[in-house]
Amino acid sequence: MRIFFYFWISLLLMTAQTSIAAADAAPIRLLIHGGAGTIDRNKLTKELEQAYTQVLAQSLTAGHAVLKAGGSSMDAVIAAIVVMEDSPLFNAGKGAVFTHTGRNELDASIMEGSTRMAGAVAAVTTIRNPIRAAHAVMTKSNHVLLMGEGADTFAAEQGLEIVDPTYFYTQSRWDQLHRAITKERVVRDHDDDLNPPQPDKDEKRGTVGAVALDRHGNLAAGTSTGGLTNKRFGRVGDSPIIGAGTYADNRSVAVSATGTGEMFIRTSAAFNTAAQVRLLHTPLAEAADNVLAEINAIGGDGGLIVLDAKGHYAMRFNTRGMYRGTIGNNGIARIGIFSDAETPVAAPSSLEQ
Ligand code: ASP
Repeated sequence: MRIFFYFWISLLLMTAQTSIAAADAAPIRLLIHGGAGTIDRNKLTKELEQAYTQVLAQSLTAGHAVLKAGGSSMDAVIAAIVVMEDSPLFNAGKGAVFTHTGRNELDASIMEGSTRMAGAVAAVTTIRNPIRAAHAVMTKSNHVLLMGEGADTFAAEQGLEIVDPTYFYTQSRWDQLHRAITKERVVRDHDDDLNPPQPDKDEKRGTVGAVALDRHGNLAAGTSTGGLTNKRFGRVGDSPIIGAGTYADNRSVAVSATGTGEMFIRTSAAFNTAAQVRLLHTPLAEAADNVLAEINAIGGDGGLIVLDAKGHYAMRFNTRGMYRGTIGNNGIARIGIFSDAETPVAAPSSLEQ
């Protein structure tokens, strides 16, 4: 009788160990971007490069902590994006660029690959973390996209952190606006001032985005931005548009985009990438490159981060640089800015597991 009892106990323990081992073996992966553009190697000082690398590493570490603990890809995407929204370095949240009239109008979107549920906000002015508002639209409303004052009110009603619009003031963005107004251009973050003077090519970008795969095999994607410096008339780009700036479908990939928003909308960039993977079985990097070539053909540029449910991924761009990084099961953050391969960086001590 006792032998029988021990036999059952050891069988139970073995089963438990096997499922823990299986969960550990399941791939987890997070990719992030902090915008693409004509980032100038010579202008990027060592200190600034370190500052960007530090925030990217913090973002990766925050998202990885969620995934490692068995959390959802959706929560990992939010955790990673919030870190970049709270940094003045990126054109999202705190560091958002100014509109022509000196306001900050922020856009964000999020999508879940298992259900294809999605949420987005556009032209909001008082929400500290627009990515959280996008998530609230997805989970607490029957809608996909809320804009302007209504979206601000909705976020407040959901108990999200509301700030005075002056929270988004940073001197560097203000100066950037005045340079753009002088040149009569709309400007994307991360492009330098030495660009040729065509209106569209001469912009700076610093939009942020993340895509994640959790241990349950679910994908999620999110994107957050202040849009373009000197934008006018309620202009909204691709970032809050599901299928353009953000898309996630467990059957194919999760995608977040950054670049010349108008062209990303016109090519349905994020959905276009996912559709190639799902319907044509195009490899991820090739699908992203095809979309970037389409965008290039109509005068745009930028980058895409792409991740599938097996953990395969690609980070592609046709600009001089794209702030980006990735982290997987081994917890080693790899970060890149220019076209060189991403290199490992030490986890920021404040966030070390
Ligand atoms: N795609 C963003 C927009 O057009 C800009 C960016 O990615 O930097 O609003």
